[in-house]
Amino acid sequence: MWIDTHCHLDAPEFDADRDAVVARARAAGVDMLVLPAVAVSNFDTVRELAHRHLLSYALGIHPLCVDEANEADLDTLAAALKAHAGDPRLVAVGEIGLDHFVPGLDREKQERFYWAQLKLARAAGLPVLLHVRRSADAVLKGLRRF
Ligand SMILES: [Zn+2]
Repeated sequence: MWIDTHCHLDAPEFDADRDAVVARARAAGVDMLVLPAVAVSNFDTVRELAHRHLLSYALGIHPLCVDEANEADLDTLAAALKAHAGDPRLVAVGEIGLDHFVPGLDREKQERFYWAQLKLARAAGLPVLLHVRRSADAVLKGLRRF
């Protein structure tokens, strides 16, 4: 069984043919897709999509979305992980990580959000889906710590 562990199926690029994308994946032998969230604003969307298509999802705040996120979003994530703890389709915390490739991002805030989300994942007993761009050492440091 093939699993696509990282598919942003909720992205608007798929609005025209989302069902067909899932059907083509299954026809190609990819029986499971994990739909990661990127911000609190798409938590409900990925959960609903995963349930509609019998797929899996992850909840988290993407490093490229951290600049626009606020601290309360971490509380929202914690609450969502708790609220859906019994949902077998919730399989990870993600997409989280560090992006040191895109210039101008607040690296300190990224790291704070990354570490906070690692803590939440550990508390929830869930694995993490990682975004790692020019940041492998710092990402591994976080993993070792938590
Ligand atoms: Zn991604």
